[in-house]
Amino acid sequence: MFTFNHPPSSILIVGSGVFGLSTAKALAENPTLHKTQITLLERFDFPAPDGSSIDSSRIVRPDYADGAYASLMIEAHRHWRGDLGKQGRYTESGLCIVTSEESFDDSAQGARTYMEKALENVKARLGLSCGRREDGGQLESLHDPDDVQRIMGSMGGDCGKRGYVNWTSGWADAEAGVRYVREQVEKTNRINFRTAEVKRLQFGPDRVEGVELSSGEILTADLVVLATGAWTPRLVDLRGVASATGQAVAYIDITPDEQLRLGSNPTLICESNGMFIIQPRNNLLKVARHGYGYANFVTFPHPEKPLESGEQITASLPRTKCNDETLQLPAEGIKACREYLATTNPSLAQRPFKETKICWYTDTPSGNWLIDYHPKYKNLFLATGGSGHGYKFLPVIGSRIVDVIFAHDRDALGGELRHKWQWPEMRSKEDHIWTDDWRGGRKGMVLDEELAKTL
Ligand SMILES: Cc1cc2nc3c(=O)[nH]c(=O)nc-3n(C[C@H](O)[C@H](O)[C@H](O)COP(=O)(O)OP(=O)(O)OC[C@H]3O[C@@H](n4cnc5c(N)ncnc54)[C@H](O)[C@@H]3O)c2cc1C
Repeated sequence: MFTFNHPPSSILIVGSGVFGLSTAKALAENPTLHKTQITLLERFDFPAPDGSSIDSSRIVRPDYADGAYASLMIEAHRHWRGDLGKQGRYTESGLCIVTSEESFDDSAQGARTYMEKALENVKARLGLSCGRREDGGQLESLHDPDDVQRIMGSMGGDCGKRGYVNWTSGWADAEAGVRYVREQVEKTNRINFRTAEVKRLQFGPDRVEGVELSSGEILTADLVVLATGAWTPRLVDLRGVASATGQAVAYIDITPDEQLRLGSNPTLICESNGMFIIQPRNNLLKVARHGYGYANFVTFPHPEKPLESGEQITASLPRTKCNDETLQLPAEGIKACREYLATTNPSLAQRPFKETKICWYTDTPSGNWLIDYHPKYKNLFLATGGSGHGYKFLPVIGSRIVDVIFAHDRDALGGELRHKWQWPEMRSKEDHIWTDDWRGGRKGMVLDEELAKTL
């Protein structure tokens, strides 16, 4: 068992997104690990073009129905408001959370519950002041469509029926944030960065004996940390634990005048359908859906069984333009983005999208991350399960991961989140995870089926 007093002599982190990079930083900065050889492996030259952590923007908010994440955000926010957020890497534009339901009937219950709990949490845990922004308020309840219109009116359409705006939330330039942290890690001179793809892990009865690269080279390490995001189910059997789900994203060019008109809006997210529009920058507007997503089922050799056994499993894995140049966003996803634009920004309704893409979440049943040792292989640690909300924790998640690595005893660590992140006692009955976390869109969509439809 590793502790800070008995650290491993070598650690291999696989994956250089938010989870892997932040872990590398926390390990590199820990003086008790000064003799530990640490390697960070990434299949692409940094940054990975299809990694979930690389994009124009990510929402940075403490607005969580689960108060533990709201509290963790207090610490993360200090970094975003400090050096990490400088040079446009973080913009505190506010976040307007709305529902499109007129009344809180049963079908709107989920949306109301998330929004109301989030509001309660930011009030109680962050102590934000309520009232209009012009009067110094940080949180404004929006009781009716006119209130929503007062905040989002420059879009010109129907942005929602009720909700609230948190002026202390914002958004990050996702790629710039990750690049900055990478530079910080490089400066420590403690991490050996390598570009290489892991093909398979070599499993012994109770530990990872080796890490096989696509080149055929075998690496060994005392501790292997898998921070491979939505690709993790390829390397370890995560059926009933976590799954890759593809999310719809679209970008649209706007004119300088439109940038001026829309550029000081808060980010808008609609809890009724999961659609959101992040404050535009540099004449580019992004519209996307926080949804149940698409499953992309692939059948491949069981990652934990010898190849000679011939045993296969089926799991959802990412499909991106890096492995399929012809890949398009299904018509269903394009329609959802198009309709949301038409409803909220009628003047942009007909404008062609500059680009569309599918970005991959690693979903868990509850939406909690998976930060724990593998129950069977004692030197294998998983740092994944971002469930569509990991980016904003870039500055703090690594230190939490390192805490868990070196303190196996769940109770000794304390904290509200530790229990939420553990490997589940039971796998879900269904192999594929359609999360119970709050989402928009339809549950159960399969990528190939949706691609075959023209609508
Ligand atoms: C469309 C979309 C919108 C989102 N919006 C938000 C938001 O507004 N706010 C927020 O906080 N979060 C948001 N998220 C979630 C957030 O982006 C993710 O939780 C986070 O980026 C996940 O980081 P990761 O390190 O787990 O995965 P990744 O960033 O995907 O990193 C995994 C890395 O592992 C590498 N890898 C995989 N397999 C191998 C292998 N075999 N060998 C070597 N390397 C390998 C990959 O190349 C990749 O770079 C969003 C996600 C998406 C997709």
